[in-house]
Amino acid sequence: MEQFDAVIIGAGPAGMMAAIRASQRNRKVLLIERNNTLGKKLLISGKGRCNLTNSCDMEDFLDKFSQSRKFLINTLNQFFNNDLISFFEKDYLKLKTERGGRVFPVTDSSEDILGVLKGKLRNKNIKILLGERVLNAIIKNNKIEGVLTDSGKHFLSTRIVVATGGMSYPETGSSGDGYSIARQAHHKIIPLRPALVPVLIKEKFIKEWQGISLRNVRLTLFSGFSGDKKIEEKFGEMIFTHFGVSGPVILDISADVYDALRLKNKVTLSINFKPALDYKKINDRLLREFKVNSKKSLKNIFKLLLPQAMITQFLEYCRIYPDRRGSQVTMEDRKRLIEGLVDLRLTVKGVMPVKDGIVTRGGVDTKEVNPKTMESKLLKGLFFAGEVLDIDAKTGGYNMQAAFSTGWVCGSNI
Ligand SMILES: Cc1cc2nc3c(=O)[nH]c(=O)nc-3n(C[C@H](O)[C@H](O)[C@H](O)COP(=O)(O)OP(=O)(O)OC[C@H]3O[C@@H](n4cnc5c(N)ncnc54)[C@H](O)[C@@H]3O)c2cc1C
Repeated sequence: MEQFDAVIIGAGPAGMMAAIRASQRNRKVLLIERNNTLGKKLLISGKGRCNLTNSCDMEDFLDKFSQSRKFLINTLNQFFNNDLISFFEKDYLKLKTERGGRVFPVTDSSEDILGVLKGKLRNKNIKILLGERVLNAIIKNNKIEGVLTDSGKHFLSTRIVVATGGMSYPETGSSGDGYSIARQAHHKIIPLRPALVPVLIKEKFIKEWQGISLRNVRLTLFSGFSGDKKIEEKFGEMIFTHFGVSGPVILDISADVYDALRLKNKVTLSINFKPALDYKKINDRLLREFKVNSKKSLKNIFKLLLPQAMITQFLEYCRIYPDRRGSQVTMEDRKRLIEGLVDLRLTVKGVMPVKDGIVTRGGVDTKEVNPKTMESKLLKGLFFAGEVLDIDAKTGGYNMQAAFSTGWVCGSNI
């Protein structure tokens, strides 16, 4: 039976990068992927554009991870954003940097990212096996001997890389197989939770706002026994859905929402629609609008302040009759309107399940993995790369870079 220097399980960004790097070091590797195609999740990433990394510096980059900061310093020092950018640009794929340091291919197509990876995988040292699902690692006398697949095939190697991804978007192939392989070697799995998921809202009027996207809002997460302890604040873009809220600022706080709900706390979200204006400026603006438009109804005047489709429910939320004229607005009404504009409260009733998350929080405990090599500290020859590890970050290209970096480090050490 053919013997490999390493068997790599999973052809996502982490597994592909591990194979490419190992092949450059003349290692003979077998890359096994359960799908019939490579990089299924990578293709849908960034809405099909693949936000492959972020151009920020190391400190800012590490700040975006929920934990495992210490673990990642080592990894990122070996292969960081500039390394990943030149990896693609050397292959003549032009990249561009957008708002917030997000890096994309200039073509806005994840196919081109995958194209470069596929090109580099065409190497005599790499054998690719598609449509084969690894079930187990073969471990005898505390030594790795290879892997067993669902069709009963054995593949021999004293090193295996588990790059099977997390639990989210299982239709792309990442359904959590790597955790059971890790458990075979007695690895601790940090409980799996959804991260970067949409949030479910109790208030029924939210349905009427479905599809409305707001670009520059300040969102604050409150929790605690009475729901008034400030947990996190974010500035950016959000969108209303039929069940609640989503978009970058929501996704970024969703794991904290989940943790707060688990503590059985009351959890609310506060939306500030006018974060650039203080109370006085909003008050002056309203006074001005009500004076100039004294004969117009509030539902018309508010077109200047909010998307039209929100106005009726917004005014009802503020307990103000939408047909009231500008001249009829009292000081009390104005106070309630300002409150609604700067602190519209929504009650959180849940988050979407882990399968709907952009990434999975939890996974193989990084304390049991050598950050310099990605090798298990419990079993020699067992390596981990990518989302199967307990690593997750905010949106912005950080998760993809972590997958590529851990893959590269694996490939440098197998
Ligand atoms: C909709 C969406 C959009 C995203 N957009 C971005 C973005 O723009 N930027 C960003 O940084 N991150 C993004 N992410 C997150 C990012 O895609 C992941 O963090 C990254 O793909 C993780 O890479 P990975 O190689 O660890 O796992 P995956 O990409 O999940 O790859 C794992 C591979 O292993 C295979 N596999 C699993 N089990 C087995 C088995 N038993 N045998 C053989 N093969 C197996 C799977 O089929 C899969 O192909 C997005 C995620 C989603 C779901």
